Amino acid sequence: MSKLSGKIALVTGGSRGIGEAIVRRLAADGATVFFTFNSSPDKAHAVAAEIGANALQADVANADSVQNLVKTVLEHPANPAKRVDILVNNAGITKDTLVLRMSESDWDSVIDTNLKGAFLMSKALTKPMMSQRAGKIINIGSIVGITGNAGQVNYSASKAGLIGLTKSFAKELASRNILVNCVAPGYIDTDMTAKISDEQKKALQSSIPLGRTAQPTEIASVVAFLASDDASYVTAQTIVVDGGLAS
Ligand code: NDP
Repeated sequence: MSKLSGKIALVTGGSRGIGEAIVRRLAADGATVFFTFNSSPDKAHAVAAEIGANALQADVANADSVQNLVKTVLEHPANPAKRVDILVNNAGITKDTLVLRMSESDWDSVIDTNLKGAFLMSKALTKPMMSQRAGKIINIGSIVGITGNAGQVNYSASKAGLIGLTKSFAKELASRNILVNCVAPGYIDTDMTAKISDEQKKALQSSIPLGRTAQPTEIASVVAFLASDDASYVTAQTIVVDGGLAS
């Protein structure tokens, strides 16, 4: 039997990049997967059709959108048990610029998507997971939430916030067997990091002890571990997956 067979997973931002790799991995491990997209329906529906997952539009920064999404997943014909066993808060954006140029809206949109989005999603699923007396919540943070980074005051604050959110949710929900963890990637090859020049990438690679950037599948495998029963005694942790960069 596959590791996640019979489990229902919901992944935010599963249309591209790390989220897409997580969706593919959880489905390959046997889970029934629901995932969200925000602005790229064609890509999302293509992924869903290819692997037999379910793609749904949602804006994680919007409370009504999150409520509708959770209701749809819990009432979906592909989810007759009306449960969610695994929530992966992956959706995230950057609006990088130096602090003197950073606008209030650059700050708000990044905090709303990356941090408030994880709060809204986790809160919406807390009640169902409490009734199930089981659940896994996995937040996708970043090493810059630990190290900080020039030009990313908004983004690194959102990712640092996710670490505190993870620990607090974990402590509050542990008695109901809901395990909450964070995965903090280093530099992963996705659309988000495609803007970096070849020269910058070379310099970055030379500072990574493993000497290379990572593929999204290398984050998905850690998420799959945390989502599985193999991680039944792991909660409130931030697992850094960065090739040794921040150590
Ligand atoms: P991408 O830019 O490749 O993909 C972002 C995903 O988030 C897309 O699926 C997008 O949907 C979705 N999304 C964006 N805004 C919203 C929203 N408001 N509501 C719902 N979904 C939304 O990013 P990555 O795959 O690179 O990053 C995934 C996560 O990993 C993020 O949290 C990021 O911060 C984190 N991370 C990435 C690193 C990297 O090096 N790439 C390093 C460390 C952390 P749509 O396609 O529909 O727009």
